[in-house]
Amino acid sequence: MSATLLSVENLVVDYQVGRETHRAVDDVSFEIATGQTLAMVGESGCGKSTIAKALVRLITPTSGRIVLNGVDLAAMKERELRPLRSRIQMVFQDPYGSLDPHLNAQEIVGEPLRLRGVRSKAARHAEAARLIDLVGLPTTALDRRPQEFSGGQRQRIGIARALASKPDLLVCDEATSALDVSVQAQVLALLVEIQRETGLTYLFISHNLGVVRQLSDNVVVMSRGVIVERGPTAGVLEAPRNPYTRALRAAALDPTTIHGRKPRHILVPAERIA
Ligand code: ADP
Ligand code: MG
Repeated sequence: MSATLLSVENLVVDYQVGRETHRAVDDVSFEIATGQTLAMVGESGCGKSTIAKALVRLITPTSGRIVLNGVDLAAMKERELRPLRSRIQMVFQDPYGSLDPHLNAQEIVGEPLRLRGVRSKAARHAEAARLIDLVGLPTTALDRRPQEFSGGQRQRIGIARALASKPDLLVCDEATSALDVSVQAQVLALLVEIQRETGLTYLFISHNLGVVRQLSDNVVVMSRGVIVERGPTAGVLEAPRNPYTRALRAAALDPTTIHGRKPRHILVPAERIA
């Protein structure tokens, strides 16, 4: 058994919508062991991105604990949090909106290096070049800006930027969903390769059960803000116990109907998205 890297305990996230409080995440708990991949699946709006944003503290949880390496990040003030922010990095779904169009790839990947205290420009250049090479781009890419890249290339730059922080945990929130199937496969292979080489731990959020099956050790299935099923990926996907998971799986196998309806986009397997 590996050690627990991340332990999320009784996480609750409320959004204030006008005068109403909307509970997007309702008492969610899970753990991820160092070097492993936990997949998180569930219908659109069930709270996956909210959990991802809470982990990187883009939002502050209403209550609960987010314990990374024994330290609870959930309620930390920005000052305490700042030196720990690099520990959890996120790769976002939208390869078009997530990179600053005014910066070239060298600056995008170099910024977290600067924050990490790599003072010398030459050292930052060398490390950015290493990371760009690691994600499978030519070093000539360093001089180019996001709009000169394809979606898949942008995701590679997003991954290089995330890795530049030397995170303990990488949160991939539908990180390949916007990409063509073949490009998606390449980026997934890259993530697997990086994990094999560096032992990086992943929280992999996806609606694509095929991808989840290939890539994750364990899976949690969410519905309406709560975890409805969990366990080793193979077991959960082969013999789902929860009716919701069964429906999700049935829809993934047969994307044309679910309960007699057309499924929403989240239920369509990768082969059909292209
Ligand atoms: P998922 O990523 O699983 O699709 P989200 O975490 O994005 O789900 O959303 C969970 C729920 O919270 C949804 O009902 C969504 O409408 C709501 N929600 C998300 N972001 C906000 C926000 N900033 N303000 C209010 N409600 C939000
Ligand atoms: Mg989402």
